[in-house]
Amino acid sequence: MGIEEKVPSGFLLSTVEGLAGYMRKGSLWPATFGLACCAIEMMATGAGRYDLARFGMEVFRASPRQADLMIVAGRVSQKMAPVLRQIYDQMPNPKWVLSMGVCASSGGMFNNYAIVQGVDHVVPVDIYLPGCPPRPEMLMDAIIKLHEEIQKTPLGVDRVAAARAAEEAALKA
Ligand code: SF4
Repeated sequence: MGIEEKVPSGFLLSTVEGLAGYMRKGSLWPATFGLACCAIEMMATGAGRYDLARFGMEVFRASPRQADLMIVAGRVSQKMAPVLRQIYDQMPNPKWVLSMGVCASSGGMFNNYAIVQGVDHVVPVDIYLPGCPPRPEMLMDAIIKLHEEIQKTPLGVDRVAAARAAEEAALKA
């Protein structure tokens, strides 16, 4: 009897996906993307007191080619928006975006022409973190919640294409 007959249908695929998710979530590489005061809390999260390395991601990368998580930490100006999008596009798949603080998520108190009223106008966001600024404990909590999403991400799914299709559908609606 071959292994295919002994093992329940889909068992091997779900096991490999679970293993890949486990490794992905335990080895995130954040891009350096501090834009304003929230970035100070993000830096504190990576330092010795909070020790983000416990969750497998202490090294912030200056190159988007080496990063799979963008933490948008602070308000996004209209001038920065195309740069942010370009950096996002340069990150390899699969990739995730964490919007840190009310300014990144909605413009916050900067309800004016110079600031993008939510970074989800520029890139798809996977998790929003409220606060002004969110404390390091809050950022770590958001990252752990994102880990759950990463663990569930199926293999072989182009998340960027799916997000783009959703964006286009929303525009048409
Ligand atoms: Fe600064 Fe608060 Fe905006 Fe963060 S949410 S960038 S701390 S004003």
